[in-house]
Parts: sequence; C-alpha cells; structure tokens
Amino acid sequence: MSDPGVSLKELENRALTDLHGVGEQTSASLSKVGINTILDLISYYPRRYIDRSKEATVDSLQSGEEGMVLVNIEKVRSRKMRSRKTLVEVTASDTTASLKLVFFNQPWRQKQLKEGKDAVVFGKADIYQGKLQMTNPIVDLVGDRTGRIVAVYPQSGIAKLHSWDVDRLVAEALRRVMKVRGFADPVPSEILKRYRLVDRSSAYKGIHRPDSMNEVAEARRRLVFDELFRIQLELLQRKKFIEKNSIGIIHSNEEGLIEVFLERLPFDLTNSQKQVMDEIGKDLQKETPMHRLLQGDVGSGKTIVAVFTILKAVQGGHQGALMAPTEVLAEQHYLGISKLLEELIVPDSTTLLGDRPLQVDILTNRTSTVERKRISRGLEDGTVDFIIGTHSLIQESVSFNSLGAVVIDEQHRFGVEQRAALKEKNKDERIPDILVMTATPIPRTAAMTVYGDLDVSVLDELPPGRIPISTRWEADDTLVWKSVKDEVDSGRQAYVVCPLIEDSEKLQVHSAEEVFNDLSQGPLKDLNLGLLHGRLDKEDKEETMRSFRLGEIDVLVATTVIEVGVDVPNASIVVILDAARFGIAQLHQLRGRVGRGEHPSQCLLVGDATTKEAEERIKAMVRTTDGFELAEVDLELRGEGTVMGERQKGRNDLRLASLRRDKEWVEIARTEASGVLAERDLTSNKELSEEVTLFLGESEADYLLKS
Ligand code: ADP
Ligand code: MG
Repeated sequence: MSDPGVSLKELENRALTDLHGVGEQTSASLSKVGINTILDLISYYPRRYIDRSKEATVDSLQSGEEGMVLVNIEKVRSRKMRSRKTLVEVTASDTTASLKLVFFNQPWRQKQLKEGKDAVVFGKADIYQGKLQMTNPIVDLVGDRTGRIVAVYPQSGIAKLHSWDVDRLVAEALRRVMKVRGFADPVPSEILKRYRLVDRSSAYKGIHRPDSMNEVAEARRRLVFDELFRIQLELLQRKKFIEKNSIGIIHSNEEGLIEVFLERLPFDLTNSQKQVMDEIGKDLQKETPMHRLLQGDVGSGKTIVAVFTILKAVQGGHQGALMAPTEVLAEQHYLGISKLLEELIVPDSTTLLGDRPLQVDILTNRTSTVERKRISRGLEDGTVDFIIGTHSLIQESVSFNSLGAVVIDEQHRFGVEQRAALKEKNKDERIPDILVMTATPIPRTAAMTVYGDLDVSVLDELPPGRIPISTRWEADDTLVWKSVKDEVDSGRQAYVVCPLIEDSEKLQVHSAEEVFNDLSQGPLKDLNLGLLHGRLDKEDKEETMRSFRLGEIDVLVATTVIEVGVDVPNASIVVILDAARFGIAQLHQLRGRVGRGEHPSQCLLVGDATTKEAEERIKAMVRTTDGFELAEVDLELRGEGTVMGERQKGRNDLRLASLRRDKEWVEIARTEASGVLAERDLTSNKELSEEVTLFLGESEADYLLKS
C-alpha cells in the first residue's frame, strides 16, 4: 500500500462547512439529527432504497388499493377551505399517466413539493371526479437524482432536512474522498479476503450511491462487519488488559474435599455439569483471576457448580463467598449447602490433628450482632471457610484472611467497580476468582457482544428424569382452581403468581392481598394458603417460606418475589394470573419454580393477551420450555435494544448491524478480533487501534464494561 487512504478519524476531524453550500444554517439542521462531522454524515445511512426499474407506474395503480409510485411534480396549488384549513393540491405524473395528490391541513407541503422535483408517494389510490388521486399519501422526496437506485435518507421535519439534501452532501463528501486517496482500509486484507468483503471505498459508495441492490447488500455486509469487529476488538482488548494487570490466586488441583463432596451427592453429575466444572477447574489453576459467566437454565443445577468452585478455593486454604440476590435465597442456599457439606473436613495445621470441620456461615441483615462479630472474626482469621450472603456482602466492611473464590448467583452484571471492591478484600490485593451465574437466558451472540469481556460457560442440559412442565393458556380462571385442588389433593403444592403492576409495589401488594382474600374465601377455602410479597417484613417472609418448604402451606400466593431461585421440589403447579403482563424472561423464571422434583408439573398462564406481542410471548411459552429458544423469541419480539439495554446509549456503533439478523457476523467478528489480538497488541496496528478508540473511545468502552 503506497498511498494510505483517508481514515475515518480524518473525516471525524473535518467540519461540515468544508462542503459546498454548507453554511451555518445547514450545519445547524444537520446537527439536530446528530450529524456534526463528515464522518457522521457518511455514517448517516439510507433508510431504504427505491429501485426505479421496479416501482409501479401510475397507470397500473388500482382504485381502492395501496401503491407506491415515483412521480415528477408538475403543479402545486394551495387554498383555504371553508373550514379555514389549508388544502394543498398537487399534480404529478410519470411517463404513463398523471396522478393528483391531495393534502388536507398540511400547509407546509406547498413549500416541500417543488415543481420539477421527483417524489416517491405511497398511499391508497382513488378515483375522484374521474381522476386518479391519493389523499394524504406518504411522500419521500428524492430530488433530481438520476440512476436506477435512489437512496432515501431518514428525513426530519423539525430539522428541515430532506433526503435530497443529505444525498447531495454525502455525494460530495464521497467524491472528495475518492478524488484524494480513497478510504484507508485498516482491516487486514486476509480477513477481507476470507469473507469476500468489499473494500471500504466500495462499501461507502455502495451504501450511498449504489447501482444495484446487490451492491447495497455487499456494502452492508462490509459495514456490518466493521461495526461488530470494532466492538469485539475493544472488548477483547479490555479483557486482555485486565487479565494482564491483575494477579489472582493459583488454586491447587488437589482433589480431597471435592472428591468427598461429589461422592456424597445423591445423584450423578450431568455431562454438562462435568464439562463446566472442567472449564472452571482450568481457570482456577491459572494465575489470572477467572471472570466467568455461567448461563444455565432454571433447574440445570448451578448450585452444585458454585459449591464446587468454592471448595476448590477452600481446599487450598482459601475462603469462598456465595452471594444471592435476596435473603430468601441466601437462606435457602445456606440450608441446602450446609447439609451437603456436613462433616466435611478441611486441613488446618494449627489444630492438633491437622484438620477441622469445614465452617459454613450466613451473613445477612438478620444476623444478630453477636453472630456478626463471630463471623467477621472468623472471616478475618480464616476459620470461616465458606460464607453465604446477599449481593451486599462485598459492600460490607468485612475483610477476609484470603478470599479465593466468589460466586454471584442470579446476576449477570458484575462490572469493573465490583471487581475493584473485591480487590480490597484481600490484604495482598490478590483478586479472587469470580463466577457469575444467571438463569436469564441470553442468546449466544448477544452474550458475546454484551458480555464480551467475560468467558462464558453454558449448562445446557437438565438433570435426568425431569418431566417437562406442561404449559396451558387459559383465557379465564374457571378451570384453574380445580387443577390446583387436584394437585394439592395428591399431596403437591402450588404457587399462584399475582398480576404484575409495574412501577407500583404498593398496588402490587394490594392486588396480591386481594387475590389471597378472594381465594381463601372462595375457590380454595378448604386449603392452607400463604401470602408472600415484598412489603412483608423479613421474619414473616422467612416464616412463610419455611412453612411452604415444610409443606404446611398448600398454596403460596405471591408476587414476583418468588421469581428467582426458590426451590421447593414438591410444588408442581404454578398459576400465573394476567400472564400477558409479564415478559418472557420473567414468565420463564416463574415457571421454573415447578418441575424441580420427580412430579409432573404444570404451568397455567391465565388471561387474555392484550397485544399481539403478548400473544406471541404466551404462545412461545406454551410451545417450548427451552430457555435459549425463548431468549431468541424475546430478542425477536423486543429487538436488541433491550439486550444491550443501557449499554446502547452514547455513540452507538451499531447502526447497521443487528444482533438478531447478523448473528453469524457477531461470531465472525469475535473470531477474527481474537485472532488479531492473539498475535500482537492492537497498538501495533495504529489505524485499527485509532478507529476503535474513535468509535468506542474511553468513556464508551468503560460504559460497555460497567453497568
Ligand atoms: P439452578 O440452576 O436453577 O440454580 P439448582 O442448583 O437449584 O438449579 O438445582 C435444581 C435441583 O436439581 C436441585 O434440587 C438440585 O439438587 C438438583 N440437581 C442438581 N444437579 C443434579 C444432577 N446432576 N442430577 C439430579 N439432580 C440434580
Ligand atoms: Mg439457583
């Protein structure tokens, strides 16, 4: 490459006023739609394209039917009607016939529709007074562009920006770039070759001024790749940086504790559990701290993996912490785990026999002051091996003798700040290994983009013998309570989930109380009912959960407080009232409260679907119990905005790429980015590195990693 072309960074530094005819006013208009530099301008992509050879002709329009035609504007007339509203009448035509356009109460059309301009109009054709006419059609002005394919840009009435303005400016910008040196292409040419990607000059030309729709497609492939590639480079670069700059603990590979623990489990591990433990085991033996996300559908047995991870640390004389999102869950983990670890022995050279019983404790807001003191001391001197608490555990002032592994249950956000907080827990500032577990299924490619700085393990197998939950959609609750009674009669238990009322816990509690009263006086009056919601105080919550676990309560009427983690294998039916209000992820979690034992279970989704989307959600729930499949449906229905969530703010580099449509490109970008970084630091490719910083500059990248 003798003459490096123009880089995107150079274009970022060029003001719009460098272009012909761009003065203060145009500049201000452009700024309103976020175009401040030449780079912004050429990244302002067409909304769609009009293929002139494919548009319908005016003479083929059918009265009473919708159609889209490209016409030339011949005459524009405006007049006031008796109602004092403005009527704009336009005569337009193509080579086949003429068409009248009528706009009611849109006086600005007179200025917009200049005689001689070309416009694409879309609307319902009618015959009025013997003439073909469209009333209030949608109009896209395409200016006097020639050529077969016309790009239509997003237009903005407020900014007084028309498609042809953008078209003209982009054309000039591109002409200038091409006249000098063309675009620089910092992406290694092997990569371009491997995927038959066009070069950057062709890509920008093809997306803005294509000669065929095929050219648009080629251009899009290239630009989509660029967007995703930059994100992956940034994420992987960060990951490498963190790994290089943090010192963790090399955990021993001795089996002792683990072996005893696994032997005592009343079941065999699933292959998936074995595989994940293997991945974690390898991470733990490295000096770089593990930072791994474990995705596992509800009931896939994540807890065992958590205990395994912590025991690995304990085996080598370190400590482990397991953090849960709620106290109810922390308590449940404590009960379950202390039973699993009963009578386990850990090495301790300070004792006479050289060992002592493994010590598990729980620390929550309910822990008494005396207990709290004892536990804090134990954590500090290393005699408490395994601590269970809520997520706030890391914020507390407790310090550890040597915190070796941290498992965070039911959370997938764990950012830079929390990691930093953990660093302070150890005197020698060694960072513990971190495992983040979530049952919220995220499609693989979305996970790669959103959690690109983590390693990801997946538990994609349920323990054997689980009977798939059967799910029914009931328009009303006539048949529902009979099903609940039948289950209770055969010794099982039930959940009734109350309608979700967004943004008002108070109303939600109110509705839960109402449901509870109605049921206990009406259809379920012979059964023992319990009520659980967020406003109860902790003792009452615990008490209710305890009696439900013990089987003293037959039916637990609850709000979404039971959404995650609650594990009562005897419960075999969950009724979700007003199911249309819940999102897919939530419905899936709630359904996951049953089907956790040997009993066939049911999930009844009650109520009408209020929207088409709600109907799709419920139908998907009825169709499948596979969390990953449901996650795909969710992504399909809601778009990636929700997956990227807050992370989408700021300069969004995903302009063309879609995590949904461009799945295979996410994977390709990941592979190629990791290939580039495996060889050397990104800084050795100055252009590429500059470009990543340009799009995902310091603050953007921090943003991606935090939240
Ligand atoms: P989750 O992944 O939803 O947190 P849990 O860890 O709570 O799942 O496990 C759900 C249930 O499955 C528990 O009762 C647990 O004891 C049981 N379990 C876990 N692993 C296995 C296995 N390999 N075989 C049989 N049962 C298992
Ligand atoms: Mg769990």
